[in-house]
Amino acid sequence: TFMELVKKVCWRGIEAADSIAIRAEHESYSYKQLISSAWEISNLLCNSGLETVDGVRGRRHLGGARIGIVAKPSAEFVAGILATWFSGGVAVPLALSYPETELLHVMNDAEISMVLSTEDHQQLMQSVAAKCAAQFSLIPSVHRISSHESVHDHPQIEEIALDKGDDPALIIYTSGTTGKPKGAVHTHKSITAQVQTLAEAWEYTSTDQFLNWVEFMPKFSVRGVWQRWRESYPPNGSKADDAITVFTGVPTIYSRLIQGYEAMDPDQQAASASAARQLRLTMSGSSALPLPVMQEWEAITGHRLLERYGMTEFVMAISNPLRGVRKAGTVGKPFPGVQVKIAEDPNENDTTGVGELCIRSPSMFKEYWKLPSDIEILCGTKYFVCINLILMSQVTEDSFTDDGFFRTGDAGKIDEDGYYVILGRTSADIMKVGGYKLSALEIESALLEHPVVAECCVLGLPDKTYGEAVCAIIVPVEAAKRKQESSAISLEELCEWAKDKLAPYKLPTRLFLWESLPRNAMGKVNKKELKKVLADE
Ligand code: ATP
Ligand code: MG
Repeated sequence: TFMELVKKVCWRGIEAADSIAIRAEHESYSYKQLISSAWEISNLLCNSGLETVDGVRGRRHLGGARIGIVAKPSAEFVAGILATWFSGGVAVPLALSYPETELLHVMNDAEISMVLSTEDHQQLMQSVAAKCAAQFSLIPSVHRISSHESVHDHPQIEEIALDKGDDPALIIYTSGTTGKPKGAVHTHKSITAQVQTLAEAWEYTSTDQFLNWVEFMPKFSVRGVWQRWRESYPPNGSKADDAITVFTGVPTIYSRLIQGYEAMDPDQQAASASAARQLRLTMSGSSALPLPVMQEWEAITGHRLLERYGMTEFVMAISNPLRGVRKAGTVGKPFPGVQVKIAEDPNENDTTGVGELCIRSPSMFKEYWKLPSDIEILCGTKYFVCINLILMSQVTEDSFTDDGFFRTGDAGKIDEDGYYVILGRTSADIMKVGGYKLSALEIESALLEHPVVAECCVLGLPDKTYGEAVCAIIVPVEAAKRKQESSAISLEELCEWAKDKLAPYKLPTRLFLWESLPRNAMGKVNKKELKKVLADE
């Protein structure tokens, strides 16, 4: 279980307990400090007047109450999550990027009993908590504890009976790309399985420094990342003690890092590229990695980005290898212990091998959290709550096949080398044009290679003759925007250029030039919404 993992890391001799768990904003925190702080916060949680239940070993605990956690990436954020687990609660991280309405939706949906936040968000969160009838509590700063203090000063930590692996530990909300964010309930067991899988696949060791994970930056900044790498590997060929070794990001982060690099003067470029070359691993996920980004990154840093595929529901399941061939345009192969099935549409008699990816994995979430909050408020009776709980399990049940595979909603296929190719969401990225089923991702990836195209989104719009028409929205690169304004590129020019790369029926028949694409906090575009907007135009 996760708690066992924590215990192993933290209590196996003073050496491990004193080693650094997190660096944030030039401060380092040891495992001992982190755990001791978490223990204090957990005592605070258990004595805050929230309802508690009897624990197996005498300690009263929160019995699965949801604790919302709001903090920038920091030691306090991690301490808040650990504290929630120490006190038998379920942690619900709340994104700082959420606008207030989204925050309220998630807090009401999860039925948060208590919000933990750091001082910098106290005002906002106190008022939001009040609107959701939740309590509020401050996470104290993870302080330096005396080096004499032994981990055994908190003997109860050893005794907390949280080794029920199937108990909910964490509710993570999905990115909300296709609708309102859904709460995916992860258990201690599913989290532990994921941690172990990733540690093995990418050979994480205690000497790795993971920017954003082991070390936190308060807010992503292009300059900050490049600077941190240059400090890690100075030009004299040395390596700082706290050098970053691993970095991971969504594709837009890499585009921005590339732009930042291009804007540097030659000396700084040389220092930055040489530093980045010395990282051990750079990875991309969360949405399709455009080929030009992969190629430019490799040209600058020498690193072939490792692309992988995951979802909030099972975190990560398919990945290109750490050692071995990382194939562009693919997400690699399933991790050990993960099974993938491609469910072809029984109503279609094509044999393209394309179908919905269905996944079985030890890191699979338990269920979607879908509390009947509105009906409960309306009627306030247990009867209605009951009916809604049944409906809730139905929602989760519908997401699984009879033989226990999770339906991802993503279309994919296997290539000749056994690598998986993601073709996009079955709901928004697979277009039916004439008799053909086309992948928007494939067309986007081709169009992105055009020098004038900075960003691109392809979707199918209703068409009387063909069912759907391929429509491309393009954000031109800055230079083109300045030069010719709206005439940066025409549909004819684009198609003329693309005709060697795409079959004729894949070429766009409608083109929109936009200033930017509407992206959510994860950098993703809600195509369903866009289709509605464009269909009315
Ligand atoms: P919601 O479920 O609320 O609509 P979401 O699906 O975007 O939002 P996440 O769980 O963050 O929320 O994202 C998972 C999705 O991201 C996958 O279903 C898939 O469509 C996409 N994705 C993840 N990795 C890749 C990848 N390497 N290539 C292409 N798409 C990817
Ligand atoms: Mg999803």
